[in-house]
Amino acid sequence: MNRQLLLERYARVCDDLFAACRASGREPDSVRLLAVSKKHAVEDMLALYAAGQPIFGENYVQEALAKADVFCSQGIDARPCLHLIGHVQSKKASQVAGRFALIHSLDSRKLADALEKRLSGETRQPVLIEVNIGQEAQKSGLAAQDLEAFAEYLLEHCPHLALQGLMCLPPVFDKPALARPFFARLRELNDALRVRTGLALPELSMGMSGDYAAAIAEGASIVRIGTAIFGPRI
Ligand SMILES: *Cc1c(COP(=O)(O)O)cnc(C)c1O
Repeated sequence: MNRQLLLERYARVCDDLFAACRASGREPDSVRLLAVSKKHAVEDMLALYAAGQPIFGENYVQEALAKADVFCSQGIDARPCLHLIGHVQSKKASQVAGRFALIHSLDSRKLADALEKRLSGETRQPVLIEVNIGQEAQKSGLAAQDLEAFAEYLLEHCPHLALQGLMCLPPVFDKPALARPFFARLRELNDALRVRTGLALPELSMGMSGDYAAAIAEGASIVRIGTAIFGPRI
């Protein structure tokens, strides 16, 4: 993508995030921008990285690992820069465990067990539980009512997974007003889980290009923005 256009779009999104924080009475540094770079060139990511963007979200394991290799070949430690946000098959656990700053899409005991098995010693993998907040059959994510039992399972059986909070993709992601109640619900679930587990659970990953202002108003700590920065995916 045209370098200048990319940097202009990036600057505009950063400005909009700042304004959205102000509008909801939040400190701008309480919300992190995750630049969702799936299906976009690694050169564009490196250009944004050079412009100061620290973290990138990827959906597909092979693509993410290939991009991590390019980062490393440029002398950049990829692990702190890359978040995995797409569904992960448990058979790929060995390829992802310990390699990402945050996995947003933990959605089953099978995946948790598979990740746990690959981790040892001091290495802990930060994770978010993906919640199927709109109870949609075609989407992955845990049902809200299974959340507490799942978190307790993690605490008991997966000492190498560090639970940081929740993530969701609401049913309507381009109509902010309709998405907002789902964001509010995710925040309530995270609050309840914090009380239940005693964990800090600082992260709420919610909001995309079409609805991030609504997500920020409801307490998002990470917004995942692709199209508004990189343009349409090919
Ligand atoms: C692709 C994707 C995004 C980014 O969506 P945009 O509408 O391009 O901003 C965010 N979250 C997840 C889970 C995604 O798969």
